[in-house]
Amino acid sequence: MKKRLLFLLAAMLLCRGLGYGQKLTEKHIREVMQQAYNQFKNSSGGANASYIPYLANIDPELYGIAICTSDGKVLELGDTKYEFGIESISKVFVLALAMQQRGAKAVEDSIGVNATGMPFNSVMAVELNPQRAVNPLVNAGAMATNSFIRAPGSAAKWALIDDMMAKFASRRLSVIQQLYASETATNLHNRAIAWLLYSYGRFYDDISESVDLYTRACSYGSSTRDLAIMAGTLANSGVNPVTKEKVIDAVLCPRILATMITEGLYDDTGAWVYHTGVPAKSGVGGGIIAVVPGKMAIAVFAPPLDKSGNSIKAQKTLQYIIDELKLNLLLPHG
Ligand code: GLN
Repeated sequence: MKKRLLFLLAAMLLCRGLGYGQKLTEKHIREVMQQAYNQFKNSSGGANASYIPYLANIDPELYGIAICTSDGKVLELGDTKYEFGIESISKVFVLALAMQQRGAKAVEDSIGVNATGMPFNSVMAVELNPQRAVNPLVNAGAMATNSFIRAPGSAAKWALIDDMMAKFASRRLSVIQQLYASETATNLHNRAIAWLLYSYGRFYDDISESVDLYTRACSYGSSTRDLAIMAGTLANSGVNPVTKEKVIDAVLCPRILATMITEGLYDDTGAWVYHTGVPAKSGVGGGIIAVVPGKMAIAVFAPPLDKSGNSIKAQKTLQYIIDELKLNLLLPHG
C-alpha cells in the first residue's frame, strides 16, 4: 500500500516537472532549446533585410536562442551575446514608455490598437481606417507613439527612451551608429507616413525630431540575451526578473501583449497566433521575442527574413519550443 502511494507521488512529481500546465524544470527547458537548435541550425531560406544597407551585410548564419524565466534565470544557446539591430522590437518598449506616461486609454484613443493586417510600412493602413488609427507596433503607429511621449525637447525624450530601454534590459544599450546612419539615409518612406498622419491630426510632436527618435530607437544594438530579459519583464508583470526592479505598472502588460497578438508579426500575425497562441514581436534585424505571461520569455535571433519581414529560423525555433513546452496560451488553463 505504502509502495503504491510512493509510486503515485513520484508519478505526480514527474508530471509537474514535465510541465503539463505546471512548473517546468530548467533541465527540460534546456533540452528543448538544444533540440530546436540542432534541428534548425543549418536550415536555410529567406534573406537579410536589404532596404537598410547595414542589415544586408550581417552574417546570415548567426543564430541565438535565449530564455528568461519569470524567476530570473537566463538560459542561452548559440550567438546570444552578438549585438544586432533591435529594429521594430524597440516599438514594444517605446509603447511601454508612452503607456506608462500617458495611460493605456490615451494610447488607444490617440494612436489606435487594432490590427491592420497589412505590411509594417503600409500607407493604406492609415488611409483605410476612418479614424486614421494604427497599431503602435507598425511604423506609422510607432512614430506616432514616439510623438505622443511628453518631454521638454528631443534630447529629454531620448533620455526617457534610453532609461526605459536600460530598465527593461538591465543594462544600458547603445545605438549602432552605422545602422542609424544607414537607416537615416534611407527612411524617406517613413517620413512620408509621418507627414500623412500629421495631415490627419494624428501626430503629436515635431515630425522630423520624432521620426529621428524612432529611427534611433530602431538602431539600438541588442543581444538575444538582452531581448529575452526585456521580454521577460513583460512576462513578469512589469518587474525585471533579473534586477527585480519595477519597470512599468502590471496593468499595462496585458495591453502591450495584446498589441503583439494583433500586430507582432505584421501581415503574418494571424497565422503566427494560429500556430502558437503566444504574443510575439519581430524586427527586420532578425530578432523575435515571444512572451508567455507568468512563465518566461523566449528570444531568438537569425537574420534571414520571410516576405513579411520576420526571421524564418526564429519563427521555426519559437514554434518548436512553444509546442514542446506546451506554452500555447489558448490551451486549457490549470
Ligand atoms: N526601422 C525599420 C523601419 O522603419 C523597422 C522595421 C521592422 O523592423 N519591421 O522600416
